[in-house]
Amino acid sequence: MEPPSTSDHPPPDPEPPPASDPEGAVIARVLAARPPCHQPDPPAVDAGDDAAVLADGMAWTVDTLVEGRHVDGRLSPEDVGFKAIAVSVSDLAAMGARPTTALLSLALPSPDPAWLDGFARGVGEALARWDIRLVGGDTVQTDGPRVITVTLGGPVRDRAITRTGAHPGDALWVTGTPGLAGAGWRRADPPAEALAALRRPDPPVAFALSLAADALPTAMMDLSDGLGTDVPRLAAASGVRLVVDPGRLPDHPALADDPMGHRFAGGDDYQLLFTAPAWATVSLFALARAHGVDLHCIGRATVGSGAALPDGSWPKGFAWFAPPAPEGA
Ligand SMILES: [Mg+2]
Repeated sequence: MEPPSTSDHPPPDPEPPPASDPEGAVIARVLAARPPCHQPDPPAVDAGDDAAVLADGMAWTVDTLVEGRHVDGRLSPEDVGFKAIAVSVSDLAAMGARPTTALLSLALPSPDPAWLDGFARGVGEALARWDIRLVGGDTVQTDGPRVITVTLGGPVRDRAITRTGAHPGDALWVTGTPGLAGAGWRRADPPAEALAALRRPDPPVAFALSLAADALPTAMMDLSDGLGTDVPRLAAASGVRLVVDPGRLPDHPALADDPMGHRFAGGDDYQLLFTAPAWATVSLFALARAHGVDLHCIGRATVGSGAALPDGSWPKGFAWFAPPAPEGA
């Protein structure tokens, strides 16, 4: 993660992202062109985490869904509306922030009242679910597919939980069933539970805020792009090695045809991935029980870098961007 910029110095050149992270490469090119900023109060958490946290304690995130790419006919217009809000709720929760305020931008190919009414109902359902106020946005016409962008803000509960604080010896935890939504996306004929997870993400917001209030996680992010992509991101941000034991991952009949593929390359979980010291274990299970959250210890942090299974290998993750073509191709 890039350290916060200061008012006196241009932001330092970010570490070049690994070739395995083409999304990171796109973001790094934009961030590298940022000029010095002369505002007095730098952000508490700058670009590179699930959300930025400003000096006033508000966390902000933005997320885009492209029809045909991130959502398709497996989701109703209501599902798309609900999910557009839920994916950003997930990012704020992972910072220990309570979502309060949303902006919505829609690029639509043509007026389609039936689609729009369904979409609006889904948005409304999500706003009601998490008590979020929609305060504005933008609409444009496009020749391409529908594009939905949600900007979401909310105050950090106490102190922001970032991706950077994991220590060797910490345990690695995950909520929910990694891969369930991935099975909904990847399987030709997905079971109902997998489709439900894909259509209606349910980030554990109240649990995340309790974790933050009790300062239990040392590092936290939301699991959105699959274990194969997100565990290495958490390891890199914290400067530790994260070892995942697949035998400790929760099982589910919907994963049976390709358990490792759904879990590691599936994505769309919108659950929490975090590290915590061993002494926190009893408290973590008590909090999870109180919130009705399914919590699993799936591994640990060690000295080193990267992510690994116990045998040292690592399954390929999911990337929204295809890797860049080789030079000259
Ligand atoms: Mg995230």
